[in-house]
Amino acid sequence: MTAMLNTLVAVCLAYVVFLFLVAFFAERAAQRGRTRWLRSPIVYTLSLSIYCTAWTFYGAVGNAARSGLEYLTIYIGPTLVMVGWWWGLRKLVRIGRTQRITSIADLVSARFGKSNLLAVGVTILAVIATTPYIALQLQSVTLSFEVFAQGDMPARTGDQTHTALWLAMGLAIFTVLFGTRNLDANERHHGVVMAIAVEAVVKLTALLAVGAFVVWGVSDGPSAMLAKIDASDLGHWQADGGRWAGLTLLSAAAFLTLPRMFQVLVVENENEGHLRTASWAFPLYLMLMSLFVVPIAVTGLELMPEDANPDTFVLTVPLSEGANGLAILSFLGGFSSATSMVIVAAIALSTMVSNHIVMPIWLRATGAGASFFGDVRNIVLLARRVSIVGIVLLGYLYYRVSGGGAALTSIGLVSFTGIAQVLPVAVGGIFWRGATRTGAFAGLTVGLALWLFTSFLPSVGTGVLLSERIFTEGLFGLGILRPHALFGIEGIDSTLHALLWSLSLSTIAFVGTSLVSFPSPLERLQGAQFVNIYQHTGGPRSWSGGPAQSEDLMIMSQRILGATEAQALFLREARRQGVSGHLPDPSPDFLEILEKELSGSVGAATAHAMVGQITGGMQVSVEDLMAVADETAQMMEYSSQLETKSQELTRTARQLRDANEKLTRLSVQKDAFLSQISHELRTPMTSIRAFSEILRDSEGMLESDKIRYASVIHDEAIRLTRLLDDLLDLSVLENGQVNLNIRQGRLGDVLDRAEAAAAAASDGGARIVIKRRAKDESIVLNTDLDRLTQVFINLIANARKYCDAAAPELEIRVRSNLGGVVLEFVDNGTGIAAESQDLIFEKFARVSDQKAGGAGLGLAICRQIMRRLGGEISYLPGQSGAAFRVELPAELAMAAQ
Ligand code: ADP
Repeated sequence: MTAMLNTLVAVCLAYVVFLFLVAFFAERAAQRGRTRWLRSPIVYTLSLSIYCTAWTFYGAVGNAARSGLEYLTIYIGPTLVMVGWWWGLRKLVRIGRTQRITSIADLVSARFGKSNLLAVGVTILAVIATTPYIALQLQSVTLSFEVFAQGDMPARTGDQTHTALWLAMGLAIFTVLFGTRNLDANERHHGVVMAIAVEAVVKLTALLAVGAFVVWGVSDGPSAMLAKIDASDLGHWQADGGRWAGLTLLSAAAFLTLPRMFQVLVVENENEGHLRTASWAFPLYLMLMSLFVVPIAVTGLELMPEDANPDTFVLTVPLSEGANGLAILSFLGGFSSATSMVIVAAIALSTMVSNHIVMPIWLRATGAGASFFGDVRNIVLLARRVSIVGIVLLGYLYYRVSGGGAALTSIGLVSFTGIAQVLPVAVGGIFWRGATRTGAFAGLTVGLALWLFTSFLPSVGTGVLLSERIFTEGLFGLGILRPHALFGIEGIDSTLHALLWSLSLSTIAFVGTSLVSFPSPLERLQGAQFVNIYQHTGGPRSWSGGPAQSEDLMIMSQRILGATEAQALFLREARRQGVSGHLPDPSPDFLEILEKELSGSVGAATAHAMVGQITGGMQVSVEDLMAVADETAQMMEYSSQLETKSQELTRTARQLRDANEKLTRLSVQKDAFLSQISHELRTPMTSIRAFSEILRDSEGMLESDKIRYASVIHDEAIRLTRLLDDLLDLSVLENGQVNLNIRQGRLGDVLDRAEAAAAAASDGGARIVIKRRAKDESIVLNTDLDRLTQVFINLIANARKYCDAAAPELEIRVRSNLGGVVLEFVDNGTGIAAESQDLIFEKFARVSDQKAGGAGLGLAICRQIMRRLGGEISYLPGQSGAAFRVELPAELAMAAQ
């Protein structure tokens, strides 16, 4: 057997070298632009075969040997998706291409408002679910090596862990070499895809060869084989409907959500039309893969000893029959299945890890200027490479820790169940606009928690991560929280149990939370884009096209896309916009295209953040809208303040205008006043001058004439003096500080004095009878008695002067009330015409006969005095003659004893 093992190692190495060459030449051909044959629908279909891992290659036979036809569910699920849900896949592919989606995590993140938190969640879920699966592949290769090593020196068995390590390292190197050659998702991994297409052919050929061998080599043709199957235990096997439906659903879900499936199905898809071919060719491939599973299982059960592992029948049956060449081919089939899975899974996961975990952390750590410093492209590539090595090593560690004991199928189902938790969110996201980020987060959290509790943790073994008590008594001692009998429902198959609870509860959480939560504007936008992908070909319009700097965008894009690609892209866009030069305008359209281009390399959320850093165009979140609303409110507030100000200004302007008008009026009045004064002064001055000249030249003039002229001069001088006194008095009353001489005195006494003074001043002119009632006048006043007397004199003098009655009479009535004292001076003359009643209180206002009158200052002075004394003087209409009312306030008047 040693020779055999050495041959195997040699063949294996040669095969690996062959795969490297295939990948290398495919890559070179792609670089030279010869991609047509690289990208035929057949290559696409074959690349989908990574669904059939070593788990399917070896495990299906093992599964058939244990549970009959149940293994078929693993093929039925994807077949149903490819045939029955072709339109759904097309939508997914269209979304993936137009939105430049790089992974299943990116899909969920982009759909729900480019949320990195969700991307991180899906990434973690994917890593946890995929790690055991990678371990499974390593284990299957090791196991198959062991089969060849059996019968060899027993010590060699221990070396098999090295096999796993060597394998892991080789896979990591291959993946790093061909999986991270470039960054842009648009330039897909031609080398890798070509290699896995070749591997797809190898594994199918191997399985068909072993199948043909058992049917025609071991048995005697199909009819003999069928008879054998009927006779075996498998012939009596009963299908469990629930488990069948559950496993079919599970494999369908996994087919859509497994990161590696998403990678080949959506990310690596070159042409939507390829799906048409794949929709029939891939089910055919699966059918061929499953064709000989039962015959191999039946033959294995027949030929192999009781304790033989059915998972290795594909190898052990040809070996036991001495068909060593076939066994080596079969080994290569299993090896192909394992390696292609690990390579694509590592690429898919590393994209997720570097885009959603490493890059955001790096961007945050290096701050906002990160896009300008250092070569982002190299950082991203390094992050991918480190992630690939990390993921493969993680699988290896899991393999070492778990010891590789459990049956292959159950590990696969645990992984499937885990990744299936993304299904409600992903499918809901592309078909239901109402789905929100909060809802997605809730759904994923519930799904992840239930999967960990009911499937993943128990799968490691009872008592390893979960204590035995939890299985029998439940979490926290609660009977309803048992991993295999949640909510007390027992007796269901554990896979089905985990699947039902996790998927249904996470869907409920997702839908329920979506219904009650409020999506941000960007989520709404993305939701509309995803759900109505066929209407929207433009992509998300989330950029405002702010003060972006095309040059800065160029610098950043060069670092990510590489100088040539970035320059070509910018030039193309500039041409399209019709702009001369190399830099297009940072229009929303261009930013969108650029963002998508970048998201192919660094993921949607990161690309959005990076473009956002440069353009300053933040993503439109509710907070942003609130801020905008706040600003609007502030502006409205400000404008209303402005309005108030302008109203104030209008008011002020009006006041100014009023004041100005008043000033103008006053100025006119002042002019009139001055001309009036000069007129009033000139009259006596003229007569004084004239008579004094006459006197000067008075030679031979009669003495009597001299005396007459001198007395005229004297009278005029007195008039002038009085006029000046009055003017001075008025001026002081109007403008100056008037010192009031407050004293107590009887009203009657004041009137007596005024009467006497008026009589003295009237030069014995017209006589007038003054009627008074002494009884009423016994009021003690507390006021400026001299000024009050001045008023009374004026009124009595006026009556003397102007009362034109034949027998002039003046009645002075006195009334006292609560408000003070009221005096009425009523004569029996003609009185004053209604239109002049207000006028007489103005300066120089004279209405009656000029000869009798003075300068027209008397009543004006009276009004000023009365105001100073806190009272009022007014004309009293409706009396027999001229009537004046004088009011004195109570404060300055005191009632008689
Ligand atoms: P004057 O110094 O000319 O007396 P007043 O201000 O005292 O000026 O009076 C203004 C005008 O009011 C007088 O010219 C006169 O025409 C009119 N007037 C005042 N008192 C009376 C009155 N008792 N009867 C008629 N007219 C009067």
